[in-house]
Amino acid sequence: MRINTVMAHKFLTLFSTFNATAIFGPYVSPGTEIATYGDTDFEDVVTARWSAWAEPTFQAAIKPATEIDLQNIVTIAANLSIPFLAVNTGHGTGLGYGNVANALNINLGNFNSVTVDADNNLLIAGGGVNFGDVFPVLYDAGKELQTGNSECVGLVGATIGGGIGALQGLHGLILDALVSVRIITASGSLVTASATENPDLFWAIRGAGANFGIITEATYTLHDQTNNGYVSLGEFVFPGSLNGSLWEILHTFDDYLPPNLALIISGGFNHTINSAYVTAGVIYFGPLAEAQAYFDQFIALGPVSQVVLNTTTLAMYDLLSATACTDGERHNDYTLGFNQTDVLTYTEVFGTWADFAAANPNYAGQLTFQRYSNEAMLQVPSNETSYPWRDIKTYLLLDNTYTDAALDTAVDDISKKIRSTLEATSGFGRLQVYVNYDHGDEGVKAKYGSSVERLQALKAKWDPHNLFGIPNPV
Ligand SMILES: Cc1cc2nc3c(=O)[nH]c(=O)nc-3n(C[C@H](O)[C@H](O)[C@H](O)COP(=O)(O)OP(=O)(O)OC[C@H]3O[C@@H](n4cnc5c(N)ncnc54)[C@H](O)[C@@H]3O)c2cc1C
Repeated sequence: MRINTVMAHKFLTLFSTFNATAIFGPYVSPGTEIATYGDTDFEDVVTARWSAWAEPTFQAAIKPATEIDLQNIVTIAANLSIPFLAVNTGHGTGLGYGNVANALNINLGNFNSVTVDADNNLLIAGGGVNFGDVFPVLYDAGKELQTGNSECVGLVGATIGGGIGALQGLHGLILDALVSVRIITASGSLVTASATENPDLFWAIRGAGANFGIITEATYTLHDQTNNGYVSLGEFVFPGSLNGSLWEILHTFDDYLPPNLALIISGGFNHTINSAYVTAGVIYFGPLAEAQAYFDQFIALGPVSQVVLNTTTLAMYDLLSATACTDGERHNDYTLGFNQTDVLTYTEVFGTWADFAAANPNYAGQLTFQRYSNEAMLQVPSNETSYPWRDIKTYLLLDNTYTDAALDTAVDDISKKIRSTLEATSGFGRLQVYVNYDHGDEGVKAKYGSSVERLQALKAKWDPHNLFGIPNPV
């Protein structure tokens, strides 16, 4: 039974403490799980988290079974002023997550349906689905969707901030594939948002979606598989001393990167031999014979090891997820977007970063530049969605990975230095940040750009009491 606001208000006088089972239990279906922090089953109900840095704290967790359960939970929590966060895979990072305190964890794990309507080129996915849930289903149907690269990441969570990945050159951002969503808003209502229904909400959720409600289901446009679902991959490993040559290659793609090509160049540090290294990942959605010319540019530099193969996209996502999907370490990440590759600046920051890694034996971070073609995403008018940065060509992901919190300050100091050095030659003359990679100190303009004012007006309309979006407010 869907409760209304008046009924929920009664709870204010009945409950002075946050006892989740007592508060929500009578108003959710039997399939809904509820646990309070300290209960033996709390860990079963609360969502896991990828990063142990800037973690939210939860007093209780609830895993609704149905949309009506979720509506009731939002309504009651709103009326009792219980802070909450909807969580799917827990891969969101950033200082803002640490601002979620003593809250209710709303576990979206039961919204896990995946349906392909091949005749109409549509994917209908629950709000608790991750990329790994959709890859095999799409593959078996001979279809593809632009997604992120790691199986463990939430489809909707990535979508509503933008959604970048190897296929974006061909198909645009993930949010460009969105046709409609079913979303529970601050009033507890379940509404559809699409180009024709609640179009203002649909605009807002495509870029700042975590601020406007909880999406229970999302419908996406699909494409037939590129190259029959086969992809050419090259991974080349070089000593760190060659990093400048890799930035030179990246620089040659500043004006044009073929839409079916993606480059991921990443610095790492091997503490066993006390030496930095760089890997170049080349992803080409096409046959090996066509990819070879791109591979050859890296082979000519003399990699210390290399792997070249043509395989299915399914196998590719497995490979790309292998190391990225481990939960539990501190990931104190920094990012910014680029319009160009300034070889000298990249080389300078690589040196700064490698010196820091060498001096800190327990630091296991990576300095990664992801270059994706923005050709398809530029076909979408900039005002069609709230996502502001269609002009970003390369994304930095400075993934500072470590376990000891004592390293936080030193990591922050070096990362801020690296970010400001890179910002000066990014080609934008300002900090442009992909919100899903944010550190959290960049400010709203850096994350939402010229969409800020309209987003704030829509926030006042759809979520005037700021129930949603604590981690990345507009
Ligand atoms: C290992 C790793 C790999 C990544 N790879 C990519 C990539 O290739 N491309 C890319 O674009 N991004 C990538 N990201 C970033 C990713 O898009 C963000 O971390 C995103 O916020 C994760 O969403 P989630 O649902 O997995 O995480 P969560 O922490 O569960 O959610 C993140 C935010 O989204 C909100 N949210 C989640 N689901 C819903 C929903 N159904 N309705 C409303 N709000 C919701 C949550 O409330 C929270 O605010 C990666 C992150 C990690 C850690």
